[in-house]
Amino acid sequence: MNKWLNPDWEPGIGVQSIPHQILIKKGIKALFLDVDGTLIQGRRVIIHQSVIDWVTEAKKYQFIHLVSNNPSKKRIESIANRLGITYTNSAAKPSSKAIKNKLKDLNLKPSQIAIIGDRIFTDVLVGNRLGFYTILVKPLDLNGQPVNNLLQQLEKCLAKIIGGSVK
Ligand SMILES: [Mg+2]
Repeated sequence: MNKWLNPDWEPGIGVQSIPHQILIKKGIKALFLDVDGTLIQGRRVIIHQSVIDWVTEAKKYQFIHLVSNNPSKKRIESIANRLGITYTNSAAKPSSKAIKNKLKDLNLKPSQIAIIGDRIFTDVLVGNRLGFYTILVKPLDLNGQPVNNLLQQLEKCLAKIIGGSVK
C-alpha cells in the first residue's frame, strides 16, 4: 500500500536493543545510521554506553556509516570519531544523493544494506527509495532510553493518510 513510507521492520525498541543476529541472518553487510534521535538525543553530546557497545559489536559484521541531516559538521564528526566510523552531515534525507555517493565505495546490492532511523519521512523514505532494508527505531531520550515520541507518532498518522502517493 504505502510502500515508500512503511519501514520493513519497526521493532518498537531503541537501536541498541536490535539483535545483531537478525541483521547477520538477513545478510546485511552495511548499515547507514541516523544520528539525532537514533543514536543520541538531539541536544546530548555524550553517547550512552549501551549505544557505543552496540555499534562496536555491529562493526564486526557490517560497514557502518552515519548519515545525518544535521548541518553541524562538528557535532556529527565528534560522534563519528567517538564511534570510530565514517559520516555524512547535511545529508538532506530523503534525498538519496549523499547515500548514493557513499554507495560507490561499497559494491553491495541494496538488499545487503540496512538503514536505521527514527523518522519516517527522512530515514525510512530514503531507505525505501534505495531498496534498503529499513528499520524504524524508537528515538532515545536524554538518558539514552527509548521513548514514545510525538513527532514519530505524527509521522505515522501522516504516512497512513498520504499512503502510497509519496515518491
Ligand atoms: Mg533522527
